[in-house]
Amino acid sequence: MESLSAAAARMANGEATAEQLVREAMDRVAEREEELHAFLTLLPESALEDARESDRRRASGQGHGLFDGIPWAAKDNLLTEGIRTTAGSRILGDYLPPYSSTAVRRLDERGAVLLGKTNLDEFAMGSSTEYSAFGPSRNPVDPSRVPGGSSGGSAVAVAAGMCHFALGSETGGSVRQPAAFCGVVGLKPSYGRVSRYGLIAFASSLDQIGTLTRDVRDAAAVLGAIAGEDPMDQTSSTAPVPDYLAAVAQGGRGLSFGVPPEYLREGVAPEVRAEVERVAAALERQGLRRREVSLPHTQYALDAYYIIAPAEASSNLSRFDGMRYGPRAEAQDLVEAYRRSRGQGFGTEVKRRILLGAYVLSAGYYDTYYLQAQRLRTLLRQEFLRAFEQVDVLLTPTTPTTAFQFGENTQDPLAMYMADALTIPANLAGLPAISVPGQPIGGLPVGLQVMAPPLREDVMLAAAATVEEVASR
Ligand code: GLN
Repeated sequence: MESLSAAAARMANGEATAEQLVREAMDRVAEREEELHAFLTLLPESALEDARESDRRRASGQGHGLFDGIPWAAKDNLLTEGIRTTAGSRILGDYLPPYSSTAVRRLDERGAVLLGKTNLDEFAMGSSTEYSAFGPSRNPVDPSRVPGGSSGGSAVAVAAGMCHFALGSETGGSVRQPAAFCGVVGLKPSYGRVSRYGLIAFASSLDQIGTLTRDVRDAAAVLGAIAGEDPMDQTSSTAPVPDYLAAVAQGGRGLSFGVPPEYLREGVAPEVRAEVERVAAALERQGLRRREVSLPHTQYALDAYYIIAPAEASSNLSRFDGMRYGPRAEAQDLVEAYRRSRGQGFGTEVKRRILLGAYVLSAGYYDTYYLQAQRLRTLLRQEFLRAFEQVDVLLTPTTPTTAFQFGENTQDPLAMYMADALTIPANLAGLPAISVPGQPIGGLPVGLQVMAPPLREDVMLAAAATVEEVASR
């Protein structure tokens, strides 16, 4: 399916209506959804109504611009007022949020047409959608393989042409990794760039909403629409939002980049490494300067993440106790009601995270694990900031391998966690990062990652535009 920009141009030229765009998207859904399972909730009726309203606005010269009438999809951990929101879990039941997340609301206000809510690993904990309580999504390029996760449904919906763009969320790679596996662009903003208000919390010091799009230009457009200060999120940045589309138009010529050797080491498939080197050489020919940089603390990032993220999750998920949300289990007393509701409502991976988190926070272990992990996080961030004194951006693979088979990693949680080794450092350091498709390996998509200093999404997008250009040829 065409990009958001191309669809908007078709409407502007009078070659298509928003109603037609929704019908085209629904036709794609009818063709492929049964096999791919990108969606948990589809909204064909309200989407058609919204589209007709958009068409009336445009006809009367009151159109809202680029997004007006464009079909899109939201990961099902983003609150949508009056529309079922599950977070991929049974514990929420058929929860109907009383308000929408800020990012969703900002797209609503621009007239974008919400087509549905997409599948995810339960509470965004996972890297394949295999931990969704409602069954996995499948990779549209090779349905015997996982689409990645946790924003797998959003990546599938965009890659399979069921919508023009989607929102996902990241705590540790959950937008970039599925984008890399499905062959689309996935952008994670700096921590604080996009309001987290109405995003169901996993690990609040890491969570960010991100975008899944067909190209870098669309990533810039969607980020521009959702970024910016929000009084409802005290951690949202007050920094002004630059013109990201202008940055993309400018491109990366004249910028400097580094390829840290730590991102090409053990576990990274030789073909993935070769693709990064091919693109790095092509960038130099395009007038970008390559410099040596090293990030030695990278090897500890995954360990720190799997202490900090579960610790915060164990606290955030305590609100799901059968009292305020979802089904309440039969019980003799309150403690038993909590125990049974949580026991029945949460899946295995979520329970594993809660146990891990409660353990690392408990007296006697706090200093050994949690405090150490926080120290490591500070070192990692300082190391990145030093590297960015040498170079404007970093180029790395997004993932160590291409998409894996179903079941390949579910028996080995550590192997599953490795899928995020190269994406997690940016979350810990709060950096913006984007995954852009490289040349497929053995027919499977591969992602090239560009990272930039905090709040320099403009620089990152400029470089990513050139990566996209050289990678496609
Ligand atoms: N796969 C990682 C995890 O399971 C990251 C998830 C995410 O970014 N939401 O925690």
